[in-house]
Amino acid sequence: MQELITQYFSEIDRFTAVNADELEQFRIKYLSKKGLIPSLFDEFKNVAPELRREMGQALNELKNKAQDKINLLREQLEANTTEVKSGIDLSLPVDFSQAGSRHPLSIVRNEIVQIFSRIGFIVAEGPEIEDDWHNFSALNFQPDHPARDMQDTFFIGKDPEIVLRTHTSSVQIRAMEQRKPPLREIYPGRVFRNEAISARAHCIFHQVEGLYVDHDVSFADLKQTLYYFAHEMFGEGTQVRFRPSYFPFTEPSAEMDVSCFVCGGKGCPICKYSGWVEILGCGMVDPSVLENCGINSEEYTGFAFGMGIERITILKYRIQDIRLFFENDVRFLKQFSGVV
Ligand SMILES: [Zn+2]
Repeated sequence: MQELITQYFSEIDRFTAVNADELEQFRIKYLSKKGLIPSLFDEFKNVAPELRREMGQALNELKNKAQDKINLLREQLEANTTEVKSGIDLSLPVDFSQAGSRHPLSIVRNEIVQIFSRIGFIVAEGPEIEDDWHNFSALNFQPDHPARDMQDTFFIGKDPEIVLRTHTSSVQIRAMEQRKPPLREIYPGRVFRNEAISARAHCIFHQVEGLYVDHDVSFADLKQTLYYFAHEMFGEGTQVRFRPSYFPFTEPSAEMDVSCFVCGGKGCPICKYSGWVEILGCGMVDPSVLENCGINSEEYTGFAFGMGIERITILKYRIQDIRLFFENDVRFLKQFSGVV
């Protein structure tokens, strides 16, 4: 009898039920009138008197153990059933699919690329780590130009001087060195300046530059191309104006403004009440830059332009702080999930 009690005890201990039927089978097996435990009680009368006290105690413990187990399993099964009723089925496979969203800078860059590709511009890219020739010298930057100062440029090597490119103009030089005109290309990419990081400035930002070199390219071609861009990017009624400017690598040079696409030119905080917002720099490629790249400047002329993607994105989405672009805070990024 002692052996049976020990055996049932460990069986009861190990038992688990996945549903109410199994639990009922368990109850019938051990506790029903003809179950194993009542049968042991029936045999109790045959136990020798000196063992009765000990055996009786063990039998009662076994019965309580079985009853406790049934109560416990019943509670657990009921708890699971309640969860299914509440709409949470823990047995279902996990759904990991969550649609992400494009970064606002990618959205604007893609839009710029699409606009220029519609009029035959191809996309080209170049290295972010550049030598002095491609980043400065070939673009007519004099040795004492302030952009070459340590304050403005990240130098990562001396003799020869290696820099993190400060503009994507270096890709224009590589394009003209490697390919023969006609060239009609745009260069989107990341650039680096040694700037203190604030709401309005960052040490990393993105540009799109463009280059068109062929026979008889004139300033009229430049204006018409950028006029087309402004209309496609900012809307049909957009006005443009060109202000004279200076860049070492273009002559003549200009800044292009577009009429404020928020207030339509009436004046608002975005355009600082001027009605105009500055969008890009442009100009005719300096003949000496063409010559630096092995292109005959008597035969070919060209224009170039460049714009900051952050600036256009800030204006387009009214973003207050440039640092948001690089923090990758999903609360910021999720706001662009509706934009294709
Ligand atoms: Zn305005």
